[in-house]
Amino acid sequence: MTRPAACLFDLDGLLLDTEPLHARAWREAAAHFGRTLHSEELLALRGRRRLDCADQVRQWIQQSGGPSLSSADVLEVRQPIAASLLPHAAPMPGAQELVERCHALGIPMAMATSSSREAVALKSEPHPWLKLIERRVHGDDPELLAGKPAPDVFLLAARRLGVDPTACWAFEDSIAGARSAQAAGCQVHVLLPADGVCAQYPPEVVCLQSLAELRL
Ligand SMILES: [Mg+2]
Repeated sequence: MTRPAACLFDLDGLLLDTEPLHARAWREAAAHFGRTLHSEELLALRGRRRLDCADQVRQWIQQSGGPSLSSADVLEVRQPIAASLLPHAAPMPGAQELVERCHALGIPMAMATSSSREAVALKSEPHPWLKLIERRVHGDDPELLAGKPAPDVFLLAARRLGVDPTACWAFEDSIAGARSAQAAGCQVHVLLPADGVCAQYPPEVVCLQSLAELRL
């Protein structure tokens, strides 16, 4: 079996079960301004950078007759909610084992996340196994020009490992993230969210129900 030159991991909803917590924080922030976010809207926010999400939520609030807000107004309500929830995120099933297996096999690893450096630190603190992933690209990385679904996050992660992105396996759970990794030329593995179906993702991806299915 051919092994990847490197593995590039998303964080939220892939290694850590943070997506229900992120969704709750956005839902509660929007509700604060009188707007109910629906499940399709919450799905559309998944995998994107905080500022991009805040701008989207601000627009939804305004479009449905709510107050005219800045992204900062939305974040001022949302961030304290997220900060109280996120340190309690559990690992996704099989995530720690997969990272430890890559480490044991000497496969280079990078994190390719939309999450900011500060948020990653907050979420990672209870999970020392994440330190095995030495290279990081954060959503607020100064070298990052565009967030997912643009390919930049995965291209930069591969570059920092010194490998060709087309020789990498990328692991994602969101549609924006899978598009990003595919546009970067990676072989994409999608961990399907509970409410996700493979047909929603780009056609060439490999869909998994659990990371524990993966054999390396
Ligand atoms: Mg994700």
